[in-house]
Amino acid sequence: MITENYDRVKSDIEETCKRIGRDPGEVTLIAVSKTKPVSDIEELISHGVTEFGENKVQEMVSKISEVSKPVHFHLIGHLQTNKVKHAVGNAVLIHSVDSLHLAQAIEKEAAKKNLVAEILIEVNVANESSKFGLMKEDVIGLVQDISLLPHVKIKGLMTIAPFVQNPEENRVYFRTLKELLLDIKSKNIDNVDMEILSMGMTNDYKVAVEEGSTMVRVGTAIFGERNYNI
Ligand SMILES: *Cc1c(COP(=O)(O)O)cnc(C)c1O
Repeated sequence: MITENYDRVKSDIEETCKRIGRDPGEVTLIAVSKTKPVSDIEELISHGVTEFGENKVQEMVSKISEVSKPVHFHLIGHLQTNKVKHAVGNAVLIHSVDSLHLAQAIEKEAAKKNLVAEILIEVNVANESSKFGLMKEDVIGLVQDISLLPHVKIKGLMTIAPFVQNPEENRVYFRTLKELLLDIKSKNIDNVDMEILSMGMTNDYKVAVEEGSTMVRVGTAIFGERNYNI
């Protein structure tokens, strides 16, 4: 069931790419396994899947220690400074950096571990008060500040679009994030790559891919509905 779901999402992405003339190899599908048991993850691992997403540091760390093969876990949820030491070195990519304070904590931990932590800047493109992420206008300033940290490498931008019935409503936000990425890229800031655009979830990943997403984070369409009460 889970592998069939994964394959269906994967082929949807490929068809969408073909239709608009994108190379499907440009889009990474992250299987968002939050709240789901390791046995579900193992099904996908034996199917050859290597990219998983978790939104809580503790859950990510315990799953990393339990899986049978070393696969990649992306940290996609909000990160608190006091959890940074468990995130750095465990997450292949931290998608949710939205303050200098957090980036400085990551810098300190990465320096201690003698590695470079790869991160995305989370942007609240729709200006939703309920969401984490920076306002669009504040992104360039933060990127410039973080670019000076030697053990932190910005790889691109991430957004969580609003929950909407019709995914077309989110097209404008995906397009805006892509424009922002290109704008920052054109500034050629040292120690900053603007290659990754992490956007699109179960309800809107096709629209996100049409608008240039390079990483879609899909949970429900692969693993089924989540139950947070268990
Ligand atoms: C849960 C989550 C997802 C996946 O959401 P679905 O709608 O289940 O695909 C993607 N991104 C983030 C940041 C999440 O927390």
